[in-house]
Order: sequence, then structure tokens, then C-alpha cells
Amino acid sequence: MKPVLVIHGGAGAMSRAALSPEKEREFHEALQRILRTGQAILASGGSALDAVTAAVVGLEDCPLFNAGRGAVFTSAGTHELDASIMDGSNLRTGAIANVHHVRNPVLAARKVMENSRHVFFVGEGAEAFAREHGIEMVERTYFSTPERYDQLLRVQKETPGVASLDDGQRLASTLTAQAMGALTNSSDIDKKFGTTGAPEQPNDPLDVDKKFGTVGAVALDSHGNLAAATSTGGITNKQVGRIGDAPIIGAGCYASNQTCAVSSTGTGEMYIRLVAAYDIAARMRYAGASLKEAAEVVMYQELPSIGGKGGLIAVDAQGNIALPFNTEGMYRGYMRVGQEPVTDIYR
Ligand code: ASP
Repeated sequence: MKPVLVIHGGAGAMSRAALSPEKEREFHEALQRILRTGQAILASGGSALDAVTAAVVGLEDCPLFNAGRGAVFTSAGTHELDASIMDGSNLRTGAIANVHHVRNPVLAARKVMENSRHVFFVGEGAEAFAREHGIEMVERTYFSTPERYDQLLRVQKETPGVASLDDGQRLASTLTAQAMGALTNSSDIDKKFGTTGAPEQPNDPLDVDKKFGTVGAVALDSHGNLAAATSTGGITNKQVGRIGDAPIIGAGCYASNQTCAVSSTGTGEMYIRLVAAYDIAARMRYAGASLKEAAEVVMYQELPSIGGKGGLIAVDAQGNIALPFNTEGMYRGYMRVGQEPVTDIYR
């Protein structure tokens, strides 16, 4: 059994033309740096839980990804962050949703797991819990980047019937003058979910063509334990108060030593409806499916059958990994102890 760490930085329709070679290199470098950090924990006999925590903190701190700094904006020009974590060795888990001052939501989720008799906190209660437990809090503007703001404006312009920010009016209530001054660059990538193949969702609550990915990590450690963690800013222009799959255990995150650890990214509503992460574990446990078979059925059959788009990463107790996605690309990578990191973006 070789310890392994797998990470993702979201799935979507990424056009090679839109992603400049420099930007592409930035993504690879960020993924590799984060893989090395998390993998060093596994190499020194550390736990899968610590490895996924460190990896997701790295992804949250990197503005290239939609979690922590660099999170997408809601329709009101605010940020609402969600995260979850699960320890496959004992099925303990923690999650928080709709927070806007917690610098690293995954650390708050882990605190919930380790320091509370509850499993899931939301909104003001989640913020209060994090503050009381010494989690670093930041100004709301900490999460804002010019690329994400441009993305919000683009989405609002292209989505008729959705209330849009008027001359930054509402945003001004959220952002400091200084941050507004920085919001002038145009974005380098316009990552969109592909729309081909999948049947349309009749009342799709989201504009799935305009979203940026969540981040996540799964790992197997040298003790044979599995863990998973997922963190997100959600979906650009999401309605205030909307919560996706990322903090929902069984949908966006799941880990059990008996089967596998999974972290999802994509159209959260569909992952929730399918209980996607748990469905992979259940197929392995009850139907004897391999990790690959279970992950592929969920990604290529179940999700598309209800219009679900995105990807996921998974690892089983033997160290097999799966990184399927049904979009054009997914920022992803893995690293086995003693080997070099492998990262990829497109198919
Ligand atoms: N799954 C996330 C959500 O629905 C978004 C993403 O993966 O990009 O909130």
C-alpha cells in the first residue's frame, strides 16, 4: 500500500485558447507545490487527515482557485464559503457553510469535527464557532479578486432575468475602496461547463455555463486510513443563501476506510440529488464494484442522466485512484510517496 494524495481545483469547460501558456504553467506549479506539501506529511508517516487539510488550505490560499481567496461572488456581490472534511478511519466529519470571514473554511470544518458534538454549522453560528475556536478571521474583501468580479459582471450581463449589480453599487457595500480600485483587470480564463451530451435540467437553479471549480483533496496514509476534504466559494452569481454539495457529507465529500474517499466538483445540486460521493462508496460496498467502476458509473451515467456536470477525485483503501470528469477539463493532480507529482488540466 503506497500512501497517495490526490487533489482537484475544479472542473469545467476550459478552452485551451483562453488559458495562456503562462497561466497554464501557474496552475501546474500551484498544483505541484500543494501536492508536495501534502505528500511530505504522508511521507513522514502523517495522517491522511492532515494531508488533505494541508492540501485544501494550500488550495484555499491560492487565488487561482474558487475557494478561500479567489472565491466567486454571489449575485449580491458577496462571498459565501462552504467546506467539509471526513476521516475515513472513524467516520467523523465536520462541515461549515455560508461563512464570509473564515480565512480557511476547511480549518473551521476540521474544528467542528474535532471540537463539537455537532457535525454541521451554517452562517452566523458557523462564524461564531470558528471565532470561538481561534480560527483566523479576515475582512470580507480578503476573498475578492478582480478576475472573479469580472466573471460576475459577465455572468450577470449574459443571464437575462437575473438581478445584476448596478455600477458596483451593491458591491460597494462589500468591498473597500481600495479593493474596488484593484477590480479592473480582465480575467484570463473564462472557464465554463460544457453543455453537450447531457439532457437539460428543466428548472436548473444555476447557470452552469458560468462557474469556477471547488477545490478538494483525498488521501490514503501509511496506516491505511482514508480522508477527504472539499472547500468552495460555490457558483458565480449564486443566490444568496444557496448551499451546494461541497459541505454536504455524502454529496461533495465522503470517506470510509471500508471503501473510499471522494471529493466532488461540479453542479452541486445534482451531486446532492444523487448523493454522489456516497453512491460511489455504496456501489463498492454493496455491489462489489471497483473504485474505477463505481466512480465512472456515477460520473458518466448517473450525473449526466440528470444534467449533472463536473468531476471528482477518489482513492480506495488499496491506493487505487480515480479522477473522472465529464467536462472539458479539471485541474487535478496526484502524488504517491517517493514519486514525482503528476498534474493535468485537460482531457
Ligand atoms: N460544487 C460546487 C457547488 O455546487 C461548485 C463547484 O464545484 O465549482 O457549490
